[in-house]
Amino acid sequence: MKPKFIAGNWKMNGSLAANASLLQAVLDGSKGMNCQVAVCVPSAYLAQVQALLAGQSLIALGSQDVSAQEVGAFTGEISAGMLKDFAVRFAIVGHSERRQYHAESDAVVALKAQRALSSGITPIVCVGETLAERQAGQTEEVVRRQLAAIIHTNGHCISEIVVAYEPVWAIGTGLTATPEQAQEVHAVLRAQLKAATSHSNRISILYGGSMNAANAAQLLAQADIDGGLIGGAALKAADFLAIMAAGSKTA
Ligand code: PEP
Repeated sequence: MKPKFIAGNWKMNGSLAANASLLQAVLDGSKGMNCQVAVCVPSAYLAQVQALLAGQSLIALGSQDVSAQEVGAFTGEISAGMLKDFAVRFAIVGHSERRQYHAESDAVVALKAQRALSSGITPIVCVGETLAERQAGQTEEVVRRQLAAIIHTNGHCISEIVVAYEPVWAIGTGLTATPEQAQEVHAVLRAQLKAATSHSNRISILYGGSMNAANAAQLLAQADIDGGLIGGAALKAADFLAIMAAGSKTA
């Protein structure tokens, strides 16, 4: 069985001082943890966090986005090659906040995943339905469509991705999918990946959406939940460590 993968998404939070104390507390408390861990930090802090993580192997560095372009006149964008310069191992792509506030389409998200993969960075591809889509009974159709775009563009490289199921209605709201609701969607995604590649067992499918110290163990115990993408709770060392501990126990 793969170790559980616990990834923190700091979003647009942090400061030089806050990052240093958060990471120090997580590193201090992480002795004996048996899970894979990453922190996806704001781009402005990549160099700082790369230095803070030097010399240890538990926590990998991640970004929260990557450009769909390779190089050139794209003001404000950060390329996969630039991320690679900072030893970035993971890049979140298609987070619902990017889809919603930056109008990222399925096709753009698929290109971002492709750019990451071609630089040796593992994309953490987010999929998930809105509340209206769930209420209309469209959850499966939406997540399958979002994942199909990734599969279509990335072909045989698909076994190198990580998928995160993040129901939009559960992100930052305190509402969490029940373990059964999450498992149901994860099983759909697993079947789709299985049909796309004979190496689908390599792909971790994370759950994200108000995962916290209290609900992590139950969610992570589900058969097709291989880890978590954690927003708010990744900003508090004690909460993030509790989720890592839950992941270590269910590995
Ligand atoms: C996220 O932003 O990826 C996320 C899951 O946020 P939260 O845990 O705060 O719901």
